[in-house]
Amino acid sequence: MYQVKVDPHTHTIYSGHAFSTVGENAAEAAAQGLAGIGMTDHFGIMTPRRPDGRLDFGPLLNFEGLPPFIRGVRVLQGVEIDIMDFDGRLAFWDEKAPFGRSDLSVGEMLLQSREIVIASLHFFPGCKDGTEAQNTGMYIGAIENPYVDIIGHPCRPGVKFDCREVARAARDNGKFLEINEHTFDTPQAAPRCRKLAEICAEENCPVVVSSDAHSAWMVGRFDQAFRMLDEIGFPQRLIANETLEKMAGLRGKKW
Ligand SMILES: [Zn+2]
Ligand SMILES: [Zn+2]
Repeated sequence: MYQVKVDPHTHTIYSGHAFSTVGENAAEAAAQGLAGIGMTDHFGIMTPRRPDGRLDFGPLLNFEGLPPFIRGVRVLQGVEIDIMDFDGRLAFWDEKAPFGRSDLSVGEMLLQSREIVIASLHFFPGCKDGTEAQNTGMYIGAIENPYVDIIGHPCRPGVKFDCREVARAARDNGKFLEINEHTFDTPQAAPRCRKLAEICAEENCPVVVSSDAHSAWMVGRFDQAFRMLDEIGFPQRLIANETLEKMAGLRGKKW
């Protein structure tokens, strides 16, 4: 059985379509024996705007209100930001930041303040028509963004890409590809995730295993991911989130 002590990808009610609070997620993580979770609510196409057109950041810029540990679990203040084009640009990368900090865009201002950043494809116009080469370039572009730590659910259905090229880019940039428990709920996506994991093992590319929990009851649940990794003999040493210290160390961070 694999050891994973950090669930880097969880959602709270702030995402708008998830069910639990950060306190409930942390309590479940503590009950599961986890040392840390990433609080990684969505930012991008799902982010609402106020009547005056400005983005509604909700609590995203107010993490000072949260302690670093809740019920003994290190809660990493993160975000899951949308990939917005085939160059791998991230959400609001060109939109001017509010609050008079005009030197930074909204996207950059937010990511600069995050302890953990997941970049994921959910939707942008034309994304469903991407060729394998375009999708590969998209993921590599996001990997090369210095703020990004993890590419979220790369094997989502309909997104074909060159696994080896992306794994090599992630490894060479010190980033992680995600083995997302949710992926195994989709029959078309599961074999592709397995193939990606096999190539990551061959290429020495570290991965993170995550729940992508949208309710506290799913935090720290990785059963399907573990089964697949076990079947292919994936090495424990390439699981970055084995411990908080290992994951932080591989990214040169102090948590
Ligand atoms: Zn979501
Ligand atoms: Zn997510």
